[in-house]
Amino acid sequence: MAETSDYRGNDGVLHCGICHEAKEAFYPAGMEWLGKKKHPRMCACYREECEQEEKRVRHKEHELFVERLRANCFSASHMYRWCFRNDNGRNPKMKIAKEYVDAWEENEKGNRGLLFWGGVGTGKSFMAGCIANELLEIEVSVRMTNFAEILNELNRSDTDRNAYIQKLCKFRLLIIDDLGMERGTDYGMEQVYNVIDARYRSGKPLIVTTNLSLQEMKNETNMARKRIYDRILTMCIPVQIQGTNMRQEEQREKFRGFSKSIGLFQKQDS
Ligand SMILES: [Zn+2]
Repeated sequence: MAETSDYRGNDGVLHCGICHEAKEAFYPAGMEWLGKKKHPRMCACYREECEQEEKRVRHKEHELFVERLRANCFSASHMYRWCFRNDNGRNPKMKIAKEYVDAWEENEKGNRGLLFWGGVGTGKSFMAGCIANELLEIEVSVRMTNFAEILNELNRSDTDRNAYIQKLCKFRLLIIDDLGMERGTDYGMEQVYNVIDARYRSGKPLIVTTNLSLQEMKNETNMARKRIYDRILTMCIPVQIQGTNMRQEEQREKFRGFSKSIGLFQKQDS
């Protein structure tokens, strides 16, 4: 702990050559310990060093925790990159996703979810993924999945269905991506309803994305579907996502870059 710049002060104890604080202190008058009248003490530099080390440890722990949450949230690693940082800024509705995260505490308390509805490729999943990644960063447990995955899991012979549904309800936020009932069997619909209803009863928020229109959901006449949509509409505030088909646009951009790189088709760009 002693450095070459340290010096003995007029008070008879060692001082730090950098911050000049005492690095030793006397025991109370007349007392000693193991034949010594002084004991070491931390100077400001040393305290600072300890603080930094604690911060590093805490940060590392936080990162490991978030990494675990992320692995439990997504089923594919490309979704790790769906975050506000990587947004191209072209979707004005992204503001709503940000506001949802900012007001997370109240949203969680009030069991308020969102329903992103609109055409294919408008970035609904990306938006939901941004919310997930942002909340994971503040150590909120999130699960983003879809009914194809859920039904696969429920149909496995070794799955305890109730335990699986309860597990989905433990996440502080559940995101069901790409809800679409068009090919649902009666049995599948029953399972979908069970999951949505269990989530409803858990009192925790749900975010759903779907290519169905709000009108389609509201005017559904098939009872099995209707009760699913009704539940979702009581839990989620509908937000219409419009705009260009981002996927097609991305592909066009990729193609544009490619064609430029080989010096072809430049005149086709508009
Ligand atoms: Zn010091």
